[in-house]
Amino acid sequence: MVEVPFDVIVVGGGAAGLSAALTLARARRRVLVIDAGLPRNRFSPHSHGVLGLDGEASSALLERGRDEAARFGTEFAAEEAAAARLADGLFFVTTASGHEFACRRLIVATGVRDVLPEIPGLAEQWGTGVVVCPYCDGYESRDRRIGVLATSPRSVHQAQLVRQWSSDLVYLVAGTPQPLADDAAALAARGIALEKRVIIEVLGGSDGVTVRYRDGSTDDFHRIFTSPRPEFQDELLHRLDARFAETPRGAVVAVDATGRTSVDGLWAVGNVTDASAKVSMAIGQGSAAAYAVNEDLVREEVELAVTSAGSETPAS
Ligand SMILES: Cc1cc2nc3c(=O)[nH]c(=O)nc-3n(C[C@H](O)[C@H](O)[C@H](O)COP(=O)(O)OP(=O)(O)OC[C@H]3O[C@@H](n4cnc5c(N)ncnc54)[C@H](O)[C@@H]3O)c2cc1C
Repeated sequence: MVEVPFDVIVVGGGAAGLSAALTLARARRRVLVIDAGLPRNRFSPHSHGVLGLDGEASSALLERGRDEAARFGTEFAAEEAAAARLADGLFFVTTASGHEFACRRLIVATGVRDVLPEIPGLAEQWGTGVVVCPYCDGYESRDRRIGVLATSPRSVHQAQLVRQWSSDLVYLVAGTPQPLADDAAALAARGIALEKRVIIEVLGGSDGVTVRYRDGSTDDFHRIFTSPRPEFQDELLHRLDARFAETPRGAVVAVDATGRTSVDGLWAVGNVTDASAKVSMAIGQGSAAAYAVNEDLVREEVELAVTSAGSETPAS
């Protein structure tokens, strides 16, 4: 059953989606957030680098965001949005339980799923001993022994970045192609050790993480940084025929600075448009989209008001 259309539906209630919902609800729009409740950083106990909230529990940050958006009337559906279609100027979003909601504007903030290197034990350490972002977790490992686990030849750049936080750094090639001669020389020039042995297991420890090599020997690290492959959760955007652009990370939905897609009335924000966006960037993108969406609705309302005022003006 379709109910009265919402002004805006936001699919995805992470940092980006909740930020958009808060601003739109404060703009007195009727907003629904449909959220499956699996934010990307749910494996990590704390969020760092978020101004005013540095070190806050990752779950508490979103809980506060939901409370704030709800305080201004945002409604929530805690489930997956399975399908979306556009008909007669409205978007229709169907949830996994079969409920269909309609809206005038749609914001997709569904994030990415991290596809981790397939090393036994690694997934269990994801978010604690094995992490992705030195800006988020580098400081807590400063001057400690750190590993950078390669997932592609480009991982040498991650190693050079992480070197900013510690000089005790090992680049774990782990079966990916050996670094090119120039890259190997640059790693050596910055004192970054090169470890070519194959890793067969990752184990957690009380203060870090241990890798086991095929020859049976082990190596301890405070943290291992790695770059998983981002799988964009962009099915709804494909279904709605939004334009995608080729990037080094594959096809990513094309958006302008406010998150507006090629489809009228459809916005996309946060990691689903940019896998490297941190929490504060996702919040900013959500906010920028909310401004643009509200202005687009105001523009439509002005047009409708002018048309209806014109049709009511008595002929002279
Ligand atoms: C291990 C780890 C640690 C991190 N630590 C930090 C940190 O310390 N500081 C920092 O700034 N950043 C950190 N990040 C990055 C942070 O996770 C992202 O910046 C942030 O999650 C992006 O927010 P988002 O709203 O775009 O996506 P997400 O937070 O992933 O939210 C997307 C939401 O959409 C929902 N969803 C997806 N598809 C559907 C659907 N079809 N229907 C309904 N709901 C759907 C998901 O369940 C999820 O709730 C970390 C990332 C990782 C992986």
